[in-house]
Amino acid sequence: MDMTKIHEKIESLRPEMIKTLGELIACPSYRQEAAEGAPFGKGARKCLDRALEICRGLGFKTENVDGYAGRIFTDDRESSLGILAHLDTVPAGDGWTKEPYKATVEDGLIYGRGAMDDKGPAVSVIYAMYALKELGVKLESPVELIVGTGEECGSSDMAHYMTKKKLPPQLFTPDACYPLINIEKGHINAGFSAKCPSSALSELHGGKTVNAVPASASAVVRLPLEKVKKAAEKACCTVKFGFSEENGTVKISAEGVSAHASTPETGDNALTALIKLLSLLELGSPADGLIRGLAEAFPYRETDGLHAGVKASDDESGALTLVLSILDLENGEMNGAIDIRFPVCESVETVREKLSKTLKGAGFEAQIRGSEPHCVPADSPFVKKLLAAYEAVTGKKGEPIAIGGGTYVHGMPGGVAFGCEVEGEDNRIHGADEFIRVDALVENAKIFAEAILGVCGGE
Ligand SMILES: [Zn+2]
Repeated sequence: MDMTKIHEKIESLRPEMIKTLGELIACPSYRQEAAEGAPFGKGARKCLDRALEICRGLGFKTENVDGYAGRIFTDDRESSLGILAHLDTVPAGDGWTKEPYKATVEDGLIYGRGAMDDKGPAVSVIYAMYALKELGVKLESPVELIVGTGEECGSSDMAHYMTKKKLPPQLFTPDACYPLINIEKGHINAGFSAKCPSSALSELHGGKTVNAVPASASAVVRLPLEKVKKAAEKACCTVKFGFSEENGTVKISAEGVSAHASTPETGDNALTALIKLLSLLELGSPADGLIRGLAEAFPYRETDGLHAGVKASDDESGALTLVLSILDLENGEMNGAIDIRFPVCESVETVREKLSKTLKGAGFEAQIRGSEPHCVPADSPFVKKLLAAYEAVTGKKGEPIAIGGGTYVHGMPGGVAFGCEVEGEDNRIHGADEFIRVDALVENAKIFAEAILGVCGGE
């Protein structure tokens, strides 16, 4: 099949693609209370129904899998390629200057919740498959689109789907970025705790979510202000410390910079800075020992887990990252949490063993959970074919990348993330005024059509 013909066909579908995306944006599909046949709420179910209805109108067969997800296909044989997109979104949130649930097309951009994450990419897949079908392309092995409705709340949509349906052996999700993500690091969530009855340290709070570098932390100590200020100077941190005195106690506040736990080097951890300061004070036992143990194992500014004993890296996936993200002292107990993203050369078990030893040495009991790394070899024919499609349409070089986060296909054998964000453009995913470029909506369909043809074969 002549590629220019496919590209022309897709160009001619531009108005239809914009219209379809508008219809899906007009179905708010953030998580709501579950109802009969609507495990993620009536909005998500309505959006799924509408998408399947539109696809039937385009001549596809569809299947609704218990309101969790849908299948869109033309061929009853088993698919060799599955494309996995999601129709649910996060809620609109504040700060919009456009309507979140009514598409606004302006200056070549389409605004609306889900425009880029992930309704727009789903629309591009639908019209890539439609263009091939309308041009009479006979695929050697079939392709199917799977649309989930629970990605933003933990992907239990696909957990359910997999109990009912077989996934194709090759899968990609257009729910991340180009060129292609073939490695997702393993992920550890560690909680730790220790008894810490009254001492000169009466309060300590830092961080709220385990997967972020904490931007603020605070503590209250019963010590002279002068001593506290001296310790702050000695700690020598770029985090900003503030002090206020009240009834013989000093409240210390620390302001740093937040960042996602998968890229901690871009943040400035207020909590580890505060721990460093506290470790230089005489707090009395057992707070002294616990704080110094944490300061030693998780030094301020260190993100590779060296002193925690878990440092590791390999060429394919890069270095392990570690963030001490939460610590609270409440009711005589110190509780904290750690986020680790580890390379493919390690496993949950090997990291767990090393980390629990370190935490035990610092005086803490640990509870460590995790998921293994996800990897599809960079030199597999599937990865090569997808990147070839990307290069052919965009003219850019396509190298696979490794990330610390997890995508929709994490843990699904043969799954990679392919599209649709591009470097240097902020589509405001999860934020106000989310958008996709109309040209990107169309170009994505061209990339996907070439990818389908490349992977499935046909003419
Ligand atoms: Zn998404």
